[in-house]
Amino acid sequence: MRRPTEHMGPFEAVNHFFQHAAEIARLSDSTVSVLSGTYRELRVQVPVRHDDGRMQVVYGYRVQHNGARGPYKGGIRFHPEADLEEVRALASLMTWKTALVDVPFGGAKGGVQVDTRGMSEGELERMTRRYTDQIGHILGATRDIPAPDMNTDAQTMSWMLDQYGRKYGHTNQIVTGKPIALGGSQGREEATGRGAVIIADAALADRNGSAEGATMAIQGFGNVGSWAARIARDRGYRIVAISDEFGGIHAEQGLDLGEVRAHVAESGSVVDCPGTEPIGNDDLLRLDVDVLMPAAIGGVITHENASEIRADIIVEAANHPVTPLADEELYEAGVTVVPDILANAGGVTVSYFEWVQNNQEMHWDHDDVVHQLERKLTTAYESCRDYQQRHEGISKRQAAYALAVDRVVEAAALRGYL
Ligand code: NAD
Repeated sequence: MRRPTEHMGPFEAVNHFFQHAAEIARLSDSTVSVLSGTYRELRVQVPVRHDDGRMQVVYGYRVQHNGARGPYKGGIRFHPEADLEEVRALASLMTWKTALVDVPFGGAKGGVQVDTRGMSEGELERMTRRYTDQIGHILGATRDIPAPDMNTDAQTMSWMLDQYGRKYGHTNQIVTGKPIALGGSQGREEATGRGAVIIADAALADRNGSAEGATMAIQGFGNVGSWAARIARDRGYRIVAISDEFGGIHAEQGLDLGEVRAHVAESGSVVDCPGTEPIGNDDLLRLDVDVLMPAAIGGVITHENASEIRADIIVEAANHPVTPLADEELYEAGVTVVPDILANAGGVTVSYFEWVQNNQEMHWDHDDVVHQLERKLTTAYESCRDYQQRHEGISKRQAAYALAVDRVVEAAALRGYL
C-alpha cells in the first residue's frame, strides 16, 4: 500500500482509503478504475441577483459517484471551498456511507461555491431556485435525491422541492431533510448529531468506558455539532469545549448548553459566551478528552497536529476531518478513530426513513425513528468491529471501507457494470 502524503486533495484522500479496501478484496484493475472515478459531473453557472440589483455569478456542481445500489443520494453544500474536487470527494464518501449502513442508495453530492455570509433570505432563495433549475434534469425521486449539508437546511430543501415541482410536477421524495409540514421526517434535523453520539457511546463501550461523566470537545456548532452537544449532554457526557468558525469556548466543569444556545441566538457565535474561557479551534483539537468530535470542515487533523492529539476517541461527525497520513499516525498511537462514513451516517439513514415514509405516504413517530436509527447504526458499528477482529492490524476505517466496497462491488457486478 502506497504511503499517503500530506498534500493529497480530498478526492485523492478518499480514494486512498478505497484503494486499501480494494487491495484487501483483491479487486481487478478495471473494477478499481470504475470505482475510483465518478459516473457524472455537472458544473453549472448560477447567476444570483442581489437585493441591490447587482448580479453575482457563482458556480454550482452536482457529482454522481456510483449508483449501483440505488438512486444517487447526497447533500447540497453552500461554501467558498465547495469546488469540484471537494464535491467529488463528498460524493464518493456517500457511496461508501450508504453501503456501510446498508440503505439502498448510491452516492452523490452537490455544492455551490459561494460565501453565504451576509446574503439575505431573498438572495439565498433566488440562488437555490436557479441552482435547482440548472441541475433538475439529473435529479428524480428514483434517480438522485439531495439533502441539506453545510449552510443549507430544511428551508433550502423546501425551495428546491417547490422549484423542481414547477417543472416536473410535485414530487415529495425529490429531497430529504424537508420540514415536517412538507413531508419531512421526525428526527431528521437532529439525526446526524444523534448518530454521532450513538457511535461515540459504542466506541467508548469498546474501550470499557461509558457516557456517564465522559468528557467531550466538539468543533462546529451548526446543525451537527449543536445537536450532538445536546444529545450527548442528555446521555451524561460533560461537554467541555465547543467552537465555530469564529473561535471556541472552554469550561472544564462542563458548558451550560442553554446559556451557549442563548448566546449564539443573540450574537451569532459561541465566542465570548459568559462563564467560559476562550479557546482557539486548534487548541480545542488538542484537549485531553475522552471523545473529540470534529463537526465542521474537512482536513483539520493533519500530520502537523496528529502527534498532539490527546483524545482517546475521535468521532468524525464532519466529512474527512482527518487526513490519510494523520489517520495512520493516530492508529499507531492507539487513538480510536471512528470514520466519517460510520460516524455521520445518521443523517442519510433518517433521510432514507423519510424517503420510505414519503413512498408509503406514512408518518412514523419520533420514537420509531430514533429506535430504527439506533438499530441501523449499531448494526453497522458491530459489523465493522467484527470485521476488524477477524483481520488483525486494520483500523476501524479500513474495516468500514472493506465492508462498504464489498457491497458496492457485489451490486455493480450483478448489474453487469463490472
Ligand atoms: P452547518 O453549516 O450547520 O455548521 C457548520 C459549523 O461549522 C458552524 O458552526 C460553523 O461556524 C463551523 N465552521 C465552519 N468553518 C469552520 C472552521 N474553519 N473552523 C471551525 N468551525 C467552522 O453544517 P452541518 O450541517 O452541521 O455540517 C457539519 C459537518 O458535518 C460537515 O462536514 C458536513 O459535511 C457533515 N455532515 C452533515 C450532515 C447533515 O445532515 N447536516 C450529514 C453528514 C455529514
